[in-house]
Amino acid sequence: MNGGGTSPQPPYGHMSARGVTVAGQQVPVLVAGGSLVGLSTSLLLATAGVPHLLIERHRGTAVHPRAASFHQRTMEIFRTLGVQAAVEAAAEREFVQNGAIVSVPSLSSDQVTYFFRNFNEGVEQLSPTARLFITQIGLEPLLRDTAQERGATHRYATELVDFEQDDDGVTAVMRSRDGGAEETVRSDYLVAADGAHSLVRERSGIEMTGRGAFARCVTIYFRADMRDLIGERNLSVVYVNHPELLGFFRFSFAGDAGFLAVFSTIEADGSRDTHVAEDLTPERCVDLVRKALGRPDLAVDVDNVQRWSAEASWAPRFQDRRVFLAGDAAHVMPPTGGFGGNTGVADAHNLAWKLALVANGTAGAALLDTYDAERRPVAGLTVEQAYTRYVLRVDPSLPRDDLAAPLDDASIELGPIYRSGAVLGPDEDDGAPLVDPRLPGGRPGTRAPHLPVDRDGAPASVLDVLGDGFVLLAGPTGQPWCDAAASAAADLGMPLTAYRVAPDGTLVDAGSSFPETFGTGADGAVLVRPDGVIGWRVTAAAENPREEVERAMRRLLFR
Ligand SMILES: Cc1cc2nc3c(=O)[nH]c(=O)nc-3n(C[C@H](O)[C@H](O)[C@H](O)COP(=O)(O)OP(=O)(O)OC[C@H]3O[C@@H](n4cnc5c(N)ncnc54)[C@H](O)[C@@H]3O)c2cc1C
Repeated sequence: MNGGGTSPQPPYGHMSARGVTVAGQQVPVLVAGGSLVGLSTSLLLATAGVPHLLIERHRGTAVHPRAASFHQRTMEIFRTLGVQAAVEAAAEREFVQNGAIVSVPSLSSDQVTYFFRNFNEGVEQLSPTARLFITQIGLEPLLRDTAQERGATHRYATELVDFEQDDDGVTAVMRSRDGGAEETVRSDYLVAADGAHSLVRERSGIEMTGRGAFARCVTIYFRADMRDLIGERNLSVVYVNHPELLGFFRFSFAGDAGFLAVFSTIEADGSRDTHVAEDLTPERCVDLVRKALGRPDLAVDVDNVQRWSAEASWAPRFQDRRVFLAGDAAHVMPPTGGFGGNTGVADAHNLAWKLALVANGTAGAALLDTYDAERRPVAGLTVEQAYTRYVLRVDPSLPRDDLAAPLDDASIELGPIYRSGAVLGPDEDDGAPLVDPRLPGGRPGTRAPHLPVDRDGAPASVLDVLGDGFVLLAGPTGQPWCDAAASAAADLGMPLTAYRVAPDGTLVDAGSSFPETFGTGADGAVLVRPDGVIGWRVTAAAENPREEVERAMRRLLFR
């Protein structure tokens, strides 16, 4: 069965022919895969009140640490979802935060090159959140439990084995790992968060494009007493540029365990072996860890070895009608930069509100097409930036003729520009790939910038009023925009809150910074989408604000 074509048969006909039990379940959204991106999607959907079913092949959440560096944008999403404090508390139990990212020939060497002196160096003022280190082992249970508390249904040890879509929905076949008959579930939409080897992507006939795989790597999880090697240093990520191997370390809180990811080894003649994952013995693992630590005699116990590919690829389509690819199912990048999981959470964030508004009839179905238009170019850019960092930090021998120039990390994390029908941008597009979040913002298609305000007498960020429906933010003399927006939204049944942001506004901007930070001037306003992205901006008063704002709202909702 191929999910890519319209079935000529009734949805269940073909499945019954395979002897499948027709469970007759019906959900608006089915999420395939319940790791970082599937669980983020589930939490976002549950918070937006969208009933859904998530199925995950494994019996529980992540057992390997994998992603650990989470960027400010991801933390802003968690803040909007009300889990920032819980994530920070869990992170504190795992890592001393705000460590350095360095490169060394081995951990015992005193030649240290700093990529970051501390992880939040220079970005502290850009967000009410901080970049943070937490493993997927620590994070995923939190996302799972909160999503379930908010009404999500999750089925573990359950595998998606097949699906097909027709004009009205998707029929998926799933199977419990504990046996029993296959079951079907019918959904309006399917979100594929099933990872780099996505069955959904493959069945949809979507082949990855990009640079492909360039190394077969391993992550070696080990225990060793490294306290004297680490000393008083707070090290988040330690790249190892050893004469015999290239990789990176992350260490446990206590300095008694960690992992070494090995990208490649270097032979005596200087050639690189990029197939470390093949023929790897336990003794070889211990040897690699000792070399990278610079301690040939240290006692090292290897707990586990995980094999993975360093790859820079993305799907040429993130959507196949009712099916959406998110996370590693849509893009795979090397871990240099720590972008992979963050990009996946951003996919989920972009998609969830669109599914919610289309599912409840507030927006037209064409809003969903903007997911691919917005996320694919940003993901492609991020994959290339991860590749550039891989070439510059790890393997200069890789092809570099068409290497993208390295862009600033904060701009990659906070400054993507979306271009689609759900962004009413300026007529002239300068084609910029990113905006610099340190500069004044408010450009349609970009994240609403952080601005400290007082809300109900307490210090807050302007970002704290975003996330629950649309928000209109108006300058000090922009009250007519607030009134017009409230009236138009009521007529359209669009969820919206309007604020005047001024020293005497409903959001108190004591420093009168809003007009410049958001580029509205005193009389203008921005209409912010539920994902915190500016959908529309006006920079002056209008003769008929009601008409103008309604026109913008209809366009953003595809109505
Ligand atoms: C060594 C290393 C370090 C990294 N560090 C970082 C970092 O610091 N920061 C960062 O942002 N990213 C990092 N990454 C990348 C990050 O780990 C991935 O991008 C992220 O885990 C992708 O999440 P995902 O949910 O899309 O896919 P996955 O984590 O692959 O999850 C897919 C899930 O789908 C399930 N599944 C698959 N097929 C089916 C099916 N048919 N039915 C049901 N379930 C199915 C799988 O069991 C799995 O649980 C790192 C990666 C590596 C290898």
